[in-house]
Amino acid sequence: MLTMINAKGYAAQTSTTNLAPWNFERREVGPADVQFDILYCGVCHSDLHQIKNEWFPGIFPMVPGHEIVGKVVKVGKDVTKFRAGDLAAVGCLVDSCRTCDNCKEGLEQYCLNGSVQTYNGLSKDGTPTYGGYSNTIVVHQDFVLTVSKKLSLPAVAPLLCAGITTYSPLRYWKVGKGHKLAVLGLGGLGHMAVKFGVAFGAEVTVLSTSAPKEEAAKKLGAHKFVLTSDPKQIKDAKRSFDFILDTVSAPHDLKLYLSLLKTNGTHIMVGISPEPSPVHAFDLMGGRKSLAASGIGGLPETQEMLDYCAEHNIASDIEMIDIKNIHQAYDRMLKGDVRYRFVIDMATL
Ligand code: NAP
Ligand code: ZN
Ligand code: ZN
Repeated sequence: MLTMINAKGYAAQTSTTNLAPWNFERREVGPADVQFDILYCGVCHSDLHQIKNEWFPGIFPMVPGHEIVGKVVKVGKDVTKFRAGDLAAVGCLVDSCRTCDNCKEGLEQYCLNGSVQTYNGLSKDGTPTYGGYSNTIVVHQDFVLTVSKKLSLPAVAPLLCAGITTYSPLRYWKVGKGHKLAVLGLGGLGHMAVKFGVAFGAEVTVLSTSAPKEEAAKKLGAHKFVLTSDPKQIKDAKRSFDFILDTVSAPHDLKLYLSLLKTNGTHIMVGISPEPSPVHAFDLMGGRKSLAASGIGGLPETQEMLDYCAEHNIASDIEMIDIKNIHQAYDRMLKGDVRYRFVIDMATL
């Protein structure tokens, strides 16, 4: 007999209703599953895009949240990596085929047969997935990450999305010593990009629409700051960067930012605006520039990033919130008023 686990969380019932308390069921712990109680969950701008159907029609009711950390309460009989009482984490993925070329390379986020997202996705049995704005979660051990006790646990949560999404492209393009890296947008992803860029040895410039973030950018380790609304500062930054890591969540003028790249420079998009931003061939041609994009990260690289952070004492700068204030947090996130990631204290659920 299949029993289910009673769970509670915050869900949007439709794309036009606010999140509110909701009871639902999770599958019982299977032989290879890990169940952990969620202690903290980061608030990603993707949560807001998805509950509002800004990218594509979502699956409702929707329990968002894919920056999840907690404590293991139960493991299946085949689980070797975890025991009850261990810290554990889950990011944006909870399953993939494991057999395609991309999965075999540890690029589960690009699974050729479709990976399963932590929420707003469908499990292989066709049931919807529900995310981390909830009290407990059951996930196959292959998609559960190990967390070091060295770092503050709430500040680790955002690493599961904001961390890996910025770490992965910086590693792929081997950004480091001798490179001039611009981080476009200083929010959740942007502040992690600054920390990693600095740790990897690049000269890091923040490109921001928010003048008051200059001091904070420098505190995060950025070497320079460019206020993008100031034509003089933009003029001085022309043709100066090897890489731009673009974390902007809204439509923006790519022509302007591409003009800041050096010859052979690369503009890497990780922000996902609801509407596309047009690019003309000329914007790339004048200097053989590349426009690229990168999605989250695979499981091996996510573990590598968590271990790197523990070793180098890197975590997110967070503001802890009560889950009841989630909509105030979203409103502030939309205004760019977050330093630099909201994290829900799940004890408030
Ligand atoms: P966030 O905390 O809201 O940060 C976005 C930042 O972009 C803002 O703080 C603001 O920085 C800047 N910005 C916002 N609107 C802008 C505009 N119209 N023009 C120029 N700059 C603007 O969001 P986040 O959680 O970091 O997520 C950023 C984006 O990445 C979202 O679209 C999210 O869905 C996406 N994302 C993608 C992946 C992936 O796999 N590729 C993973 C996670 C998230 P300033 O105040 O400094 O200008
Ligand atoms: Zn995210
Ligand atoms: Zn696959």
